[in-house]
Amino acid sequence: MKMFEFNLGKTICSVFGHRFRVAKEVTPHISEYKCTCCNCELTTNANGRLDKLTPELKEVNRTLADFYRKRHTLRHAL
Ligand SMILES: [Zn+2]
Repeated sequence: MKMFEFNLGKTICSVFGHRFRVAKEVTPHISEYKCTCCNCELTTNANGRLDKLTPELKEVNRTLADFYRKRHTLRHAL
């Protein structure tokens, strides 16, 4: 039954398109998205377009989030 639902989700996505919701906000301009239907993941890339969330991009996003947080914290400290 579970498997059937999963496949159904994929089918719905291929027909109607994914239903993405923000999974994680990396910076105010970059977010990671997850489809509520089939659980596939996307992220905003350097060009501001949506790209498939690969392990490499996940790593880039983590670095970006870290960098952003530090810079933000520093700005507040000053
Ligand atoms: Zn989907």
